[in-house]
Amino acid sequence: MNIKDKMRKRLKLNRPSLRARARPPKHRSVCGSQFSAANLPGILQLQNCTDCGHVQYPPAELCGACLSSTLIYRETPCTGTLLAQSQLHHSLWEYFKRRIKKAPWPIASVQLDAGPVAIVHLVGNSFSTGDRVKVFSHSDASRSVVLLAVPESESIDTPALRRNIVDTIQLDQFAEHQQGI
Ligand SMILES: [Zn+2]
Repeated sequence: MNIKDKMRKRLKLNRPSLRARARPPKHRSVCGSQFSAANLPGILQLQNCTDCGHVQYPPAELCGACLSSTLIYRETPCTGTLLAQSQLHHSLWEYFKRRIKKAPWPIASVQLDAGPVAIVHLVGNSFSTGDRVKVFSHSDASRSVVLLAVPESESIDTPALRRNIVDTIQLDQFAEHQQGI
């Protein structure tokens, strides 16, 4: 590797804004990685406590209700009610900086019918507090699983339908920078 390549590599590491491709955050805790793995095949899999039946999100090592460690991932009803919504106008992460430049990024908290409250990417802008929504899991551009919410009327039964929805907000694609290195 010559000196020019070395400098380019160092610049790329130090200055995310110079990268041709920016990705969403990919680092996850052990519990977060397990959540990603469990959610790859289905619509929404959450931790269920086999001792007390508590449904848990975000994932943790122990049950938040009874402190049991016998938690397993089970397919969970994906319906819920929108509690609050907001739009990100600023981010310190390069991927979202580039996305927010085009349009503010909508996020929301959703009270799932199964119990927990989830923070989700909101697909669309026509939501009001109290709306019924469906929440599903999908891999983002860093191959980490994130949660998205769509109106309850929208069909999310097949992987292809869910992929189409993710496509509309380009969450599974890099944020490109034409002159990047
Ligand atoms: Zn429990």
